[in-house]
Amino acid sequence: MTLDYNSLLLALGVSAACLAVTLMGSWLVRRAETVLLTATIGLVLVVSGIFVYSAYVNRPEPAFAIGSFVLFHAGFSTIWGAGKQFLTGCLSIPAIAIRALAAMISSVAPMLAGYDGLAFIADNLAIALLLFATARQYWLARAEVPAPILGIAALYTATAISFVLCAGVLIADGKLVLGAAPSNWAEDLSLAVCIAGMTGIGALSLALHQWRLAARHRLEAITDPLTGLLNRRAVFDQYGTRPMGTTTAVIVFDIDHFKSVNDRYGHAAGDRVITVFAEELQAHCSAGDTAARLGGEEFALVLKEIMPGRAELVAERIRRAFEAREIDIDGQMLRCTVSVGVAPGRSQMPDFDTMLSAADKALYAAKRGGRNRVELAAHLRAVPAEVSRTAS
Ligand code: GH3
Ligand code: MG
Ligand code: MG
Repeated sequence: MTLDYNSLLLALGVSAACLAVTLMGSWLVRRAETVLLTATIGLVLVVSGIFVYSAYVNRPEPAFAIGSFVLFHAGFSTIWGAGKQFLTGCLSIPAIAIRALAAMISSVAPMLAGYDGLAFIADNLAIALLLFATARQYWLARAEVPAPILGIAALYTATAISFVLCAGVLIADGKLVLGAAPSNWAEDLSLAVCIAGMTGIGALSLALHQWRLAARHRLEAITDPLTGLLNRRAVFDQYGTRPMGTTTAVIVFDIDHFKSVNDRYGHAAGDRVITVFAEELQAHCSAGDTAARLGGEEFALVLKEIMPGRAELVAERIRRAFEAREIDIDGQMLRCTVSVGVAPGRSQMPDFDTMLSAADKALYAAKRGGRNRVELAAHLRAVPAEVSRTAS
C-alpha cells in the first residue's frame, strides 16, 4: 500500500513538473504574461515539496517533513499569488510571503516540538485555506471568461476539500504523535483529487491563456495604436448598416490645414496634434458614446441618447476646447483648429453609413465656409424606412 501510494505521489510530482515546463514555455512565448511565471514558480516549489514528502514517506525523519511543509506552503502561497495577479493584474510578493510564513509556522512549530500528528493537521488545513483563497480569486475573476475560470475555481475548491478531509481524519483519530506519514483513506482520495485537479487546472489555465491572447489580438485589431481610440473598422463593425436610433447623432471632425503642420514641424509634431485632439474628443465623451479615429486626422463621434439640438453643442464645445489648446512642439506653442460636420438623429432612422456621409457633407461645407466651425447636415435623405430596407 505504501509503495503504491509512493508511486502515485511520484506520478503526481512528474505530472506537476511537466505542467510547470508547459507554463514556463507559454511564458517564454509571451513574457508580458508574468502571471504564468508566478504560477510556474509556485508549481516548481510544490513539485519539490512532493519529492521531499515522498522521501518522508519512505524514511520519516522530521527534516523531510519540515522541508516538505516549507516547500508546499511557499508553493501554494505563490499559486494563490498567481490567482490574485490574474484577478488584479499586480503581483504582491509581501502578501505571498505573509501567507507562506503563517502556514510554515503553524506546521513547523508542532513538528519541532515532536507533535507530528498536530503538524500534519496544521499542514493540511493551511494548504486547504490557501487553495480556498486561490479558488476565490478565480471566482471573483469569472466574468472575463466564465467557463474555464469557473472550472478552475471548482477544481481548486475540490482539491481544498480533499485537504480538509485529510485534516478531519487526523483530528478524528486524535493522535498527536504519528511517527510516520499519515496513511488513511482521505490521503489516498486527496492524492487522486490532486492528480485530477492538477491536470484539469493545467489544461484550463492554458485554454484561458490562449483566450486572453486572442482577446488581446481582437482588441488590437479594433484599436488605433496612435490614439487608443477605436479605428474605422471598429465603428463600422459596431454600427454597420443597422438603423440608428432617433436620438443618435454622428459627428465628424477634420483638423484644419494639417498638412502644413506636418510640413513645417515634421511628422512627429503632426502625430502629437492628432493625439491631443483625440484627448479632447475623449474628454467630451460620455458613457455609451463612441469616439473613433477614421484615419489620418479625421475622427468620428457617435452620440447615443442625445436630446435634439445637443449634438451641435457638443461639437461646438470640442471645437472650442481644441482651439484653446496650446500644443507644445519642442518648446514652441502651436494652436490648431478643427472643422466639424454634425448629422443629428432623425425620425426616419437612417443607417450609420447614410448619417456618416451626411455628416461628411456638412464637414466639407464647414471647410468651404472658412474652417474652424461646426456645420449641421442640411437634411438627411428623407427615405421611408420600408423603401430603404428593400434597397439595402
Ligand atoms: P484641410 O483643412 O482641408 O483638412 O487641410 P489638410 O491640410 O488637413 O488636408 P488633408 O486632410 O488632405 O491632410 C491630411 C494629411 O494628414 C495628409 C497626410 O500626410 C497626413 N497624415 C495622415 N495620417 C497621418 C498620421 O498618422 N500622422 C501624421 N503626422 N500625418 C498624417
Ligand atoms: Mg483630412
Ligand atoms: Mg484636414
